[in-house]
Amino acid sequence: MNIVQTNTITADPIQKTEDAAFTIFHNRRDLHEETIPPFFVYINENAWDEFTKHTNEVYRTTRHEGQGIFIGRYFYDEFGEFAVATSYQEGEGQSSYSTVEMSEQCLMTISKKCRAENLLMLVWIHTHPTFGAFYSGTDVACLKTNFFMPFQIGIVADIIRKEHKGFRVQSREVVEFKDYALYSEKNRELVTIYGSTKLKGAAKHLDIQIKPKESESLSSEAILSELRAIRGELAAITNFLKKEEIRADKAAQPHTPKEPLPANGVLKSEAPQKEEQSAPSTPNETEKKPNVAASPATGRSVNPEDLFFKLQELAKQNMLQLIALIVFGVLVAIVLILKVIF
Ligand SMILES: [Zn+2]
Repeated sequence: MNIVQTNTITADPIQKTEDAAFTIFHNRRDLHEETIPPFFVYINENAWDEFTKHTNEVYRTTRHEGQGIFIGRYFYDEFGEFAVATSYQEGEGQSSYSTVEMSEQCLMTISKKCRAENLLMLVWIHTHPTFGAFYSGTDVACLKTNFFMPFQIGIVADIIRKEHKGFRVQSREVVEFKDYALYSEKNRELVTIYGSTKLKGAAKHLDIQIKPKESESLSSEAILSELRAIRGELAAITNFLKKEEIRADKAAQPHTPKEPLPANGVLKSEAPQKEEQSAPSTPNETEKKPNVAASPATGRSVNPEDLFFKLQELAKQNMLQLIALIVFGVLVAIVLILKVIF
């Protein structure tokens, strides 16, 4: 990934910025309650809508993850530093239902735009449709490698469950970051994302606008399409496990010394969770992959990696068909429960 920013980038004084797009930030007291965090990220609600539109379309048509970058400016005032993301740039590249990559060409295009318009890449955002807002090992590595500047954060959003979580690199470690919100230029106020109220130093106005959840009908068509997607994913798991089984058999033959599977080979093919291998870009192939445990999974998320490894174990005991059936049943139950809840 080619990032244009260098270490020399510093925040601009907001008071000297005459651009009308940023006048709302000239007095941040009007936006926040008591505390204004030392670093805050504001994302234009229209840019967020662009992100939602893009990644929903990606999910609707392919069931894949989607991603992009929010770009904008970096300022400071008497309260601290803050980033203002004014627009969303779609990411393009390889993706699957659980992985996403951004092509070099796409990054170059965004990079060029930033240079031409004196903007910065501020927020790397990607989706985990249906499997929860958490950072995988690959996500952690990507943020550390590509979005580690003080004005940069990462956000992961489950656009189906309406969950989101922010992260930031601090002292070379990826830590959770909550100080971000949408802003309405028109109403001159902060807007929470998906109606979540975890925002620290939230908007001053009690009548804070909540972005309405997109209504999802409980139509049988929607449920059927969910089931179809699950069936496709299950087929990929089954296919992969069969291959693994053959491979294990071969390895067990007397004249073939048994070798451990390469750490990277295991999940490479049709594995359900390939994210460990596919950061949006991996300029530094030797970058050590951080422990997945560093990325907290949400309690409600079905961890595809756990599921996968359990499946792999059991497949070795020739219980493939049975397990596939059980998993399918469980996934169907989860989908139905989620549909009822939301
Ligand atoms: Zn991810």
